[in-house]
Amino acid sequence: MPAHDVLIIGAGLAGQRAALAAAEKGASVAIMSKVHPVRSHSVAAAGGINAAISVDDDWHSHAYDTVKGSDFLGDQDAIEIMCSEAPGEVMHLEHMGVTFHRNDKGEMDLRAFGGASMKRTAYVADITGQALLHVLYEQLMKHHETVERFEEWFTTSLLKDDAGRCCGVLARDVRSGRMEAFTAKNVILACGGAGQAYKPTTNGLIVTGDGIAMAYRAGAPLMDMEMVQYHPTCLVETGILITEGARGEGAHLLNANGERFMEKMAPNKMELASRDVVSRAEQIEINEGRGVGPNGSGIYLDVTVVPRKRTLEALREIVNLGRDFAGVDITKEPITIRPGQHYIMGGVKTDVDGRTPIEGLYAAGEVACVSVHGGNRLGANSLLDTLIFGRRAGEHAAARSASMGMPAVDTKAQLREDAGRIDGIIARPHDGRRVSEIKNELGELMNKHAAVFRDEQGLQHALGEIGRLKEEAGKAWIDDRGTVFNQDVLGAIELGYMVDCAEATVVAAIERKESRGAQFRTDYPERNDGEWLKHIDITLEDGAGGGPRVSYSPVTITQWQPEERKY
Ligand SMILES: Cc1cc2nc3c(=O)[nH]c(=O)nc-3n(C[C@H](O)[C@H](O)[C@H](O)COP(=O)(O)OP(=O)(O)OC[C@H]3O[C@@H](n4cnc5c(N)ncnc54)[C@H](O)[C@@H]3O)c2cc1C
Repeated sequence: MPAHDVLIIGAGLAGQRAALAAAEKGASVAIMSKVHPVRSHSVAAAGGINAAISVDDDWHSHAYDTVKGSDFLGDQDAIEIMCSEAPGEVMHLEHMGVTFHRNDKGEMDLRAFGGASMKRTAYVADITGQALLHVLYEQLMKHHETVERFEEWFTTSLLKDDAGRCCGVLARDVRSGRMEAFTAKNVILACGGAGQAYKPTTNGLIVTGDGIAMAYRAGAPLMDMEMVQYHPTCLVETGILITEGARGEGAHLLNANGERFMEKMAPNKMELASRDVVSRAEQIEINEGRGVGPNGSGIYLDVTVVPRKRTLEALREIVNLGRDFAGVDITKEPITIRPGQHYIMGGVKTDVDGRTPIEGLYAAGEVACVSVHGGNRLGANSLLDTLIFGRRAGEHAAARSASMGMPAVDTKAQLREDAGRIDGIIARPHDGRRVSEIKNELGELMNKHAAVFRDEQGLQHALGEIGRLKEEAGKAWIDDRGTVFNQDVLGAIELGYMVDCAEATVVAAIERKESRGAQFRTDYPERNDGEWLKHIDITLEDGAGGGPRVSYSPVTITQWQPEERKY
């Protein structure tokens, strides 16, 4: 049975950054991923990463923009850490070999992004995530003696000892179907978000909330789960993302009358207001009959106003996406987009070193909620979040492991239980529903009732339906009865994870009786700081009558008092 100081689940940017940091501190490290690491969703990140590196910028300004973007729900101590450490981290990435775009003077170039008071986003064309992830992976190779990689291993649950400490995981080798227990002094969850609980979403098929659900089932609280980001520019048919970089480069949003309607909602920042504001403005245009495209369900994104040379240089991926997925040459004509699920601000509640309330269990990246994004994440702040808090979690876990022995835990019973559960799924009779059917229904339900606009009736309806889908998911059948690369059975397990995440989101959205950030309640349209300037935490209560339990935690305010948000 493999045993390590630090075991990291997830090999996207957060996981790889944590692995490097822990290895550099001398820990023995294992990093596990259900897909090859460079296929993690981080690879799809396009637009860039924020840092106050320009000579006329200051991290305080970045922090204020982030606090305002969060609609004052972000914890300011964590935001200060993220923004003040950002320039050093981005420079470190440069030195490791990330080929950030440079300007004519040879300095690192920066592009404008939503909600930012100045150009602050470093980028590599529109493939920033890919550039970062590949460089980190190369660096991991350098540490091959201390970092063991378990690629294409699927974690099924967390191991805890009798004292309730996390001391490893159970996992299935995707290639062979073999189950194994991994012991560790510390586990860092870096499993990414839960976007696949929605349909459509910009997130890859593997983004199914595994880490959030595993931590939740192990007793860790989830925080800010009601805060789900809809990105303003996703292709109407497929939900594929057109990066905010397009608006950063100057693209306009137009309604059916050819008006730049953002003038009404955000006269100063226009298309570069924060994402919650832009998505809401678009949805209003669509709902009030000023949409374009099929059934008036879209909005025009006009990139033709950006000089063609610049588009081909800085936005080349979306030129390809427009051509291949919408049949549109974006250098010549507007493309039809609409708001689509993109990111979850919520996740496993952690402190600024990635620690969860469960001893030995850490979380970092999109799976976690520190909370630096609060009610709404600013574009290009997530890559930053993964790296800063991935590093901090890796360092903290390495230091903790230096002062303790390897936990002794009997894994046999838990291993048998998980293996039995998986065999049970494979053996299910073909008389319930298919996994894919339930997943589609869940995604469409969430996209209808827990989207840009929400209300009590819709959310209560969604909660009832999720209860039914949860039961059906527990009986859903699959086709593949084999052991080798049985993705079917993994899909059934993932469905269970997604249902848990969706339930926590809806419960929190019902609880928050106000409008803040990404949560807009048409029945409570105002922000209400008196009652709701607090985080909603969701914990799973065991036993009969168990289920999601709601509690609150305070928002940390250091320098910036809540004020009205205007863009
Ligand atoms: C299309 C797109 C574009 C984006 N563009 C930007 C951008 O320009 N700037 C920005 O700041 N943010 C952007 N984001 C958001 C940002 O990319 C993500 O929030 C971030 O990359 C998440 O990184 P992560 O390391 O937390 O998780 P991920 O990169 O999602 O990695 C998760 C890892 O966990 C592993 N895993 C999950 N479950 C299991 C399991 N059960 N067992 C084993 N392994 C498991 C996966 O294999 C994977 O390795 C974008 C997101 C999308 C979808």
